[in-house]
Amino acid sequence: MAKGHFGLIGLGVMGENLVLNAERNGFSSVVYNRTPQKTEEFLAGRGSGKQIEGAYSLQEFVDKLERPRRILMMIKAGQAIDDTIASISPYLEQGDLLIDGGNSLYSDTERRVAELESRSFGYIGMGVSGGAKGALEGPSMMPGGTRQAYEDIRSLVERMAAKVDDGPCVTYIGPGGSGHFVKTVHNGIEYGVEQILAEAYDMMKRGAGIEPAVMADVLGQWNSMEELSSYLVEITEVCLRTRDPESGGPLTELILDVAGQKGTGLWTVISALEMGVAVPTIYESVNARVLSSLQAERVKAESVLHGPGPMTLDLGTPGNGMAPLRDASILSIMASYAQGIALLQEASRIHHYDLNIAGIAQIWKGGCIIRARLLQRIQDAYRQNGELPNLLLDPWFAEQVNRRLPGLRQAVSEAVRAGIPVPCFAASLNYIDSYRTARLPQNLVQAMRDCFGSHTYQRIDREGTFHTEWLS
Ligand code: NAP
Repeated sequence: MAKGHFGLIGLGVMGENLVLNAERNGFSSVVYNRTPQKTEEFLAGRGSGKQIEGAYSLQEFVDKLERPRRILMMIKAGQAIDDTIASISPYLEQGDLLIDGGNSLYSDTERRVAELESRSFGYIGMGVSGGAKGALEGPSMMPGGTRQAYEDIRSLVERMAAKVDDGPCVTYIGPGGSGHFVKTVHNGIEYGVEQILAEAYDMMKRGAGIEPAVMADVLGQWNSMEELSSYLVEITEVCLRTRDPESGGPLTELILDVAGQKGTGLWTVISALEMGVAVPTIYESVNARVLSSLQAERVKAESVLHGPGPMTLDLGTPGNGMAPLRDASILSIMASYAQGIALLQEASRIHHYDLNIAGIAQIWKGGCIIRARLLQRIQDAYRQNGELPNLLLDPWFAEQVNRRLPGLRQAVSEAVRAGIPVPCFAASLNYIDSYRTARLPQNLVQAMRDCFGSHTYQRIDREGTFHTEWLS
């Protein structure tokens, strides 16, 4: 029996679909799963009649693969990855290559790349986005590690990835944990966009009394615009149209309003705070999920803490696409991307990742959850100016901000008047308003810091560092 071209560890939702993708693209595969029944079930089911073999020990798995071995681990992030590396390492030989395709913390990947490379094994930390369907049909993949290790898996991942006009949705991201860092930020942006669309929905529902089916029509209009056309807007329309088979009513209205967060949104925010990058839209999307989880408390609080009474809000009409909400969504989504990219740029500087932002925008155009037509504009912006300090300064984006800021402002002020929370809309507005303000009030913060702690300050009218005895 010929040896397999590709090995997969972890037959979960993603692993199963990725190995079917690899096999369809001509890579005979060997699969291993911690729980052997899953391997048996897979080989008897979706994996039957294909160039896929099972293995029931790591030694058997390794023996069945051609050298140098290319092994993708698609398992739970964290200790499971370290344990699997430790268990498989004794069977690996020089030049073999392990790929972690899960959502690992980028600093863990930094450590593993250094460790494994020092033992002459290749190690790639690869973000994979696209969910089950993307994994099967073509995901977006963000591999990081040494360039040599990438070259060793290039033909495999280029064939497996989604394709857009200008190529496959995979490219070499950079050294160390850069692939997982980029995937983390991808997920942070995804959190932001999901919350933004949820805020637009809430405003349509509670602020304008619009039914889900009509909202779906509005989302359909939005999805036909260059600025909003995206996978997430498309599936929001589908969600709003879907009816509960039993009651016949809109299914969304029967779903518990609690959203968890698995880590990548939180890691985006933690990294941003550590690196001194403002990501308020993304931060608020994480906070919104945290507050949503206090469901029992919120139910009690509603009868204790009172908001304003019913009122008529000016949010446009479904016929005009709910113009203020549309503009608020467009600019808030742009703010999410701008913040995520600013974080990538700073991480690139700190960790010497040498990230190519235009290249990252290119591989996010297809296969992944944040794929959107807007990414072509983002790619163009960074192709024209790789040093652009903020996406919103690109001329096309700046024109969008100037045209749509009144709409975002109106949506936020109507929400504030009505007592409907719009944390991401408000954070995006404040982000843009802060960024476009030449003189912020931090002069007073500096005065206070110098007053109580002699922290000193700088002046705008002369060079130097100053201290004042404010309390004398
Ligand atoms: P899943 O369906 O929950 O499957 C988890 C897999 O991990 C199973 O094969 C499980 O084996 C294995 N596993 C768990 N703990 C293990 C351990 N200690 N040692 C060895 N194997 C262990 O997971 P998934 O959704 O495919 O996700 C896999 C990875 O991809 C995760 O890091 C996830 O965050 C990431 N990811 C998921 C998606 C998505 O849409 N689902 C998208 C992108 C990335 P058993 O069968 O023995 O339990």
